[in-house]
Amino acid sequence: MRSAAPELAGPTCFCRDCLGDLDFAARRCGVCGSPRVVRHLALASLTLAHIDCDAFYATVEKRDNPELADKPVIIGGGKRGVVSAACYICRTFGVRSAMPMFKALALCPSAIVIRPDMAKYVRVGREVRHAMQALTPLVEPLSIDEAFLDLSGTERVHGMIPAKVLARFAREVERNIGITVSVGLSRNKFLAKIASDMDKPRGFAAIDQDEARAMLADKPVGFIFGVGPATQERLSQRGFRTIADLQRADEIELMKQFSTEGRRLWRLARGIDDRSVVPDRGAKTISSETTFETDIRDFATLEKMLWRMSEKVSSRLKTGELAGSTITLKLKTADFRQRTRSQSIHAPTQLAAKIFAISREMLAREIDGTAFRLMGTGVSALRPGSQADDTDMLDRRSAHAERAMDDLRRKFGQAAVIRGIAYDGPEKAE
Ligand SMILES: [Mg+2]
Repeated sequence: MRSAAPELAGPTCFCRDCLGDLDFAARRCGVCGSPRVVRHLALASLTLAHIDCDAFYATVEKRDNPELADKPVIIGGGKRGVVSAACYICRTFGVRSAMPMFKALALCPSAIVIRPDMAKYVRVGREVRHAMQALTPLVEPLSIDEAFLDLSGTERVHGMIPAKVLARFAREVERNIGITVSVGLSRNKFLAKIASDMDKPRGFAAIDQDEARAMLADKPVGFIFGVGPATQERLSQRGFRTIADLQRADEIELMKQFSTEGRRLWRLARGIDDRSVVPDRGAKTISSETTFETDIRDFATLEKMLWRMSEKVSSRLKTGELAGSTITLKLKTADFRQRTRSQSIHAPTQLAAKIFAISREMLAREIDGTAFRLMGTGVSALRPGSQADDTDMLDRRSAHAERAMDDLRRKFGQAAVIRGIAYDGPEKAE
């Protein structure tokens, strides 16, 4: 029986373990005894979800080595690297993702450090993705381990409300894939993403629009996605420090001061977000980057690494049947300053030789004696791979060689072609 809000259709409270309907006031499940109860008056009408794997890389490693289960585990590289993922035990010591490794190890000296096995994480991420796609075609991945799902209109297909479909999904991922996820459920992307973070790990949280204002009020403006340090500074100069400050402001006034960004902020401060779930967009950028063991100033060394990165990016583009027309080089100096340089090309490419040639030109201009601690290259403005253009006269020879190599790899496996194509760039072409 449902004692609360009988005018609302569908359950307002259910058990995450057996999916049985419960009284709104139930503390635990009357059938299976589980305390994992989801409760929200609007539960049956919330359809937009954000699903995020919990400490993904670390959880996968723990799955594959049960001896690690109750130990602090950090996934990251080398002494100079950064933390790619920290398990929840490590997090109790204050360790966070993207933290420099030396700092993480100072906070949690007993941590077991494991080098990332990206190929494995991509495989597991893909399994999770496929399980999501069985729930709805509207799955928009944000990264390897998180995605938005629009489950509106799926109730009849599944024979249950989206909230239960998601609880069942989380249960099945645990059983079948051996990792845990957290679910955020709401009416839009912004609030769903906030919700998935509220109850981690193994979380399930629902937020409705009318709760958003109060929940957001005390958060700093930087809590809103896309509000980086520069925007925060601009907002702060005009007296906007918390989201409550934005909530008090007049929409027209904000638009006068910050143009379209002002309107966006005014709306998001109230939890209004009209962005839809776009399944085909996939990745916006395909990139590869490395934090060096020791700082590097020297062009020849960087150039060699850049070639390997270009090959990696190219191989991901080819696997994803994508091509892109903007190449971006990213550098981080020893004192943590970031330099980002982009160049657009007239036709989309997926070729390592092309990505390398453009990135290399940009790199050459940045060599000024500065020591770098990180470098990356990426391709954006992505389109279907069929639109890639190899016919550029300068490219034709290297394109042909690269395609031939790809064919060999397809036939005989990656190991058959050890070195990739020969570099035929400006240096030797002179
Ligand atoms: Mg995650």
